Amino acid sequence: MRRKILLNEKEIPEKWYNIIADMPNKPLPPLNPETLNPIGPESLAPLFPMELIKQEVTTEKYVEIPDEVRKIYSMWRPTPLYRAYNLEKFLDTPAKIYYKYEGVSPTGSHKPNTAVPQAYYNKLEGVKKITTETGAGQWGSALSFACNHFDIDCEVYMVKLSFDHKPYRKIMMNTWGADVYASPSDRTLVGRNILQKDPKNTGSLGIAISEAIERAASDDSTKYALGSVLNHVKLHQTIIGQEAILQMEKAGDMPDIVIAPFGGGSNFSGIAFPFLRLNFDEGKKIRCIASEPSSCPKLTRGVFRYDFGDTAGMTPLLPMYTLGHDFIPAPIHAGGLRYHGAGVIVSQLLKDKLIEAKAHDNMEVFSAGTLFAKAEGIIPAPEATHGIATVIDEAEKCKREGVSKTILFNLCGHGNFDMKAYQDYFEGKIKKHELSEEEIKNSIQKLNTPII
Ligand SMILES: *Cc1c(COP(=O)(O)O)cnc(C)c1O
Repeated sequence: MRRKILLNEKEIPEKWYNIIADMPNKPLPPLNPETLNPIGPESLAPLFPMELIKQEVTTEKYVEIPDEVRKIYSMWRPTPLYRAYNLEKFLDTPAKIYYKYEGVSPTGSHKPNTAVPQAYYNKLEGVKKITTETGAGQWGSALSFACNHFDIDCEVYMVKLSFDHKPYRKIMMNTWGADVYASPSDRTLVGRNILQKDPKNTGSLGIAISEAIERAASDDSTKYALGSVLNHVKLHQTIIGQEAILQMEKAGDMPDIVIAPFGGGSNFSGIAFPFLRLNFDEGKKIRCIASEPSSCPKLTRGVFRYDFGDTAGMTPLLPMYTLGHDFIPAPIHAGGLRYHGAGVIVSQLLKDKLIEAKAHDNMEVFSAGTLFAKAEGIIPAPEATHGIATVIDEAEKCKREGVSKTILFNLCGHGNFDMKAYQDYFEGKIKKHELSEEEIKNSIQKLNTPII
């Protein structure tokens, strides 16, 4: 009985895997919102360092991980992979359940896997300050940690709802030297406009992104960093799945199903893409399922069309599953999943039915998260509980059908700073929440962006 499967530092992968090289239908190009013509990578230059722009558009199958980045990774990588024997017993299922645990990073989630290389490439190009947004505070923490390592200033726009709910996330960022502002803020035109119309606005990732971009675009030595959605972010996260393949091999097993929670797609891509590579290269039939909240269901109920990545419409138009860029999700606790759209690569994969998606209600995910904590000890981040809800569904299906499948999921972060969320759940303050057909239609109808 092996509960914990470890790798040594030398086994940290040397390359990131770029799934674009293997996709049967390549992602459609981003468009200039004014001309509706495809835009080239050069238009991203005011916001991102050149090396990351190259990674955004590369079609090479693998990208070398710089030695310096691998050295920093070794502070917490390789991360452990566990067999969830206790959870299996709790569920009385014939399924075998494994999880990859990304909560061992200094900031408690998978986010430093991309924050570190992003800060590294910015440093190489002489950038002095990086601005960003954060929802639950996980991405802001990761970028603060990485910027501190490379001596770069970090300015974080934190969705107001989380800013108020999670004071300790803010203090964490301050500890690594970052400046944190509640968004919408009065520091940007975008923020001031929104506050003028709605002084009590609790913010959204889309608004915080607009604020961070506005700040970066207005200063030459400042760049912007995004913690999800973009191709280079997903590329960096593939370190997770590549390690997981080595670990599953050591366990003498291979998953039939790979599951991860879904906000913009980075941790899902991180664990799933290397397994999808096995489907492409070796003809395996591993099912990959993205788990999203039913109060922000872009994959299961959104439309596939061009839309902006932010609320104010400052980004290029991207082909994605979306609920509409000014959709403000209900104030659920899984801050990292409150985003209106899905990354371009994942959207194309879903359109082509190469991956699946499932939505879960607020109540259901906290029940799943609490069950997991009781069985396995680790208290999952509210985002991660969505993946666990899908795991439980699949494990129960195995039980009903009397078949044993191997399930692997990404426990992308711990919930140690999310006690307010668990408190609300225990006090009965978390209610079932599902969007009506009407609400979704209204938000999507407002779009005047190109249909695909
Ligand atoms: C940011 C975050 C998410 C959502 O973002 P993805 O890009 O979809 O991974 C999910 N879980 C945790 C713990 C996060 O920090």
